[in-house]
Amino acid sequence: MDETSTFDIMIIGTGPAGLTAALYGQRLGLSCVVFGDIPGGNLYMVENLANFPGFPGGIAGTEWGVKTFQQAQAEGALFTMGRLDLLEQDGNGFAGTDANGLVYSASAVIVATGRVPKTLSLPHSDMKGINFCSVCDGPLFRDKNATLAVVGSDNAAAQHALGLSRIAERVLLICRSRDLIMDAAHRKRIAAEENIDVMLETEVTGYEGLDMVEALQTKSPDGDSKSFPVDGVFLAIGWSPNTQMIKMPVETIDGGYLKTDEKLMTSTPGMFAAGDVRDTDLYQVLTGCADGARCALNASEFIKRSS
Ligand SMILES: Cc1cc2nc3c(=O)[nH]c(=O)nc-3n(C[C@H](O)[C@H](O)[C@H](O)COP(=O)(O)OP(=O)(O)OC[C@H]3O[C@@H](n4cnc5c(N)ncnc54)[C@H](O)[C@@H]3O)c2cc1C
Repeated sequence: MDETSTFDIMIIGTGPAGLTAALYGQRLGLSCVVFGDIPGGNLYMVENLANFPGFPGGIAGTEWGVKTFQQAQAEGALFTMGRLDLLEQDGNGFAGTDANGLVYSASAVIVATGRVPKTLSLPHSDMKGINFCSVCDGPLFRDKNATLAVVGSDNAAAQHALGLSRIAERVLLICRSRDLIMDAAHRKRIAAEENIDVMLETEVTGYEGLDMVEALQTKSPDGDSKSFPVDGVFLAIGWSPNTQMIKMPVETIDGGYLKTDEKLMTSTPGMFAAGDVRDTDLYQVLTGCADGARCALNASEFIKRSS
């Protein structure tokens, strides 16, 4: 590869949005270079992708990720398998620098970098036993009669709690809100699991333990403080979009998500955004894929217009 390699589109992220953008971009006749180190992105956390059309009974998130990665690769997309450190404007196009200092340039860019889970701002948040992925770290607690806490109240929290209920003796689903903010199907399944205890209006105020978390300190609205012994904690309390690599001004909405127009273009001409990193109203695989496909088409039209 030359010191600077030139492509039509630079795609950042190998989750559903980035992989689909690569698949569609290549099939539109554009050369695509894709940055990212996990085929399928956040799907590695999804044990069973049950709501993606075409898979009755569901498909493992990792399997879907690998298959879609292979599909985009077969169409000719170049996967660097590394992350992009810097994205800058370069004349009428963009320049990207990867972790090895290699520079890539492209006429358009699709940011599909997703988002990462937030942590609680509490002392000792780096203690062992505080996790974000039940599919990855839940099995560590198998056959240990464990009590595990899931902190959060949305669909992701529900999936963590349901998955962990098959591994742990007891799961505490701890929510600060008055009610669970998850869809009806998840709510019903949570209610049916005898070993999931839902604790509403409960705030986690501290971690106890030395190296490893041993208990959670909590507070209820009446000011009542309690400590619950736990063997592990899984946090599902919100997200932060991955936009640190963008080194140019770009408009965002509350929470730092990239603001896009009806063509999914950001405030920087030629920079498009797809999936969980943008101001979407549904953070799902299907919508990430749809965004990726639309970004590829809109980027192709942008390139035609500007050449
Ligand atoms: C526990 C859990 C369960 C879920 N269950 C479902 C479900 O059942 N159905 C469903 O439809 N959705 C589900 N989701 C949501 C779904 O996983 C996301 O909506 C989807 O993965 C978003 O796709 P994306 O491509 O936008 O981002 P992501 O999947 O987050 O992929 C983005 C990728 O970009 C990478 N990246 C970030 N910065 C850089 C950089 N600088 N350079 C290169 N790469 C970078 C990230 O590391 C990541 O791998 C679930 C999510 C979780 C956490």
